[in-house]
Amino acid sequence: MEETLKYKPTSCWERYGSEAERGAMDSLAEEFLEFLTRCKTERETVAWVAEQAAALGFSDAPGQGRVVQAFRSKAVLLARRGTLPLSDGVRLITAHVDTPHLDLKQHPLHEECQVALMKTHYYGGIKKYQWLARPLALHGTVVTMDGRAVFICIGEHGDDPVFTVLDLLPHLARKQREETVEKAFVGEKLNLAFGHEPATTDEEAKVRQRVLELLYERYAIREEDLFSAELQVVPAGRARFVGLDRSLLGGYGQDDRLCVFAAFKAFMDAPAEGHAQVLLLCDREEVGADGATGSKSRFMENALADIVEAWEPEAKPRRVLSRTKAVSADVHCPMDPDYQDVHDKHNASLLGFGPVFSKFTGHGGKYGASEADCEYVAWFRALLAAEGIPWQMAEMGKVDEGGGGTVAKDLAVYGMEVIDFGPGVLSMHSPFEISSKADLYATVKAYTAFYRS
Ligand code: MN
Ligand code: MN
Repeated sequence: MEETLKYKPTSCWERYGSEAERGAMDSLAEEFLEFLTRCKTERETVAWVAEQAAALGFSDAPGQGRVVQAFRSKAVLLARRGTLPLSDGVRLITAHVDTPHLDLKQHPLHEECQVALMKTHYYGGIKKYQWLARPLALHGTVVTMDGRAVFICIGEHGDDPVFTVLDLLPHLARKQREETVEKAFVGEKLNLAFGHEPATTDEEAKVRQRVLELLYERYAIREEDLFSAELQVVPAGRARFVGLDRSLLGGYGQDDRLCVFAAFKAFMDAPAEGHAQVLLLCDREEVGADGATGSKSRFMENALADIVEAWEPEAKPRRVLSRTKAVSADVHCPMDPDYQDVHDKHNASLLGFGPVFSKFTGHGGKYGASEADCEYVAWFRALLAAEGIPWQMAEMGKVDEGGGGTVAKDLAVYGMEVIDFGPGVLSMHSPFEISSKADLYATVKAYTAFYRS
């Protein structure tokens, strides 16, 4: 009796312990690390998804029944027609393709003390000190006035140079040590060391001039082209296995590319039957989801309306939306071994015990978020129980400790049933985030079960 009443969490390592499952887990992890290494910006992620989808027969013509529609290179929607009518709603998973990083400012280039520097403006919630004194890469797009797009990626390949934000030596950091972290590390000091060799011309700022010469030689761009550019500074280097047992996955941008990858795999694994399936990948989640490519934009609504018109003109888009079941696929914060005190351990998740439901997000008295209905959560539990997929139910941290929001509320406004559901990530928002190989495997299983439902 005691055994049947008590809830017992299931470890993904135990659930997927067979040799075959572990082999599948390893190859999935390797594939994910490749993806994470290659996709470090929203544009790179959307291009990767669009390219993979096109290779699998998806096109931007809704008539085909398999649709991929990219929007402004920074958001993308995939849809597959099922056997049930659209008016029964669709199965939708959404994740975000943007990650915290440093953007170059519009007037980035200057010179101080014989060093050329690029000024930056950080994007999203970063701990500024984590970006100092480490190899950084520059990724992005520069467009010239004649419409030519120049794609830049420096710091990732072969003997590419990297860049770095300089840090103060400890010998002279006495005053800094007495400051609060907030005051000790300020945005205006996040400048990227970009050059040192002076130009041979008689210009005043010779090092700065030399950088402009090199940019022109290599990319045929001038200083003014930087004003309109989208250039992002991200941690340089590959995503890696972490731990002697290679059980952890380490790399930049897992919030939320861990979910992007898991949802994409699940979407591609799902059969063209049952409900129509949709994968929506949005930008700008880390800064409030506003703007043309964020989840608050009309992009999804418009793209779905076009699909409804092509597949089932008699169906009403608003009906399709309100009957949809959705997952806001975003990463969760499991118990941090070194900072356990910020969690309510009775309502926290653990790495390795499967993807995590957040019935609601927000902060304080549940401000700024939607909350999933008990009916929907129970439906979802039954779905996962049928396949014995491990999962967890948790809150983000102690009630008054802080909080955070996701895009779930942007879907809830349409009347969809929606819940946050994603794997745990340690060192979240840092340049080297950590996830569990076993959680990734279970998450793909869970998202696949959802698409098949
Ligand atoms: Mn996120
Ligand atoms: Mn985030």
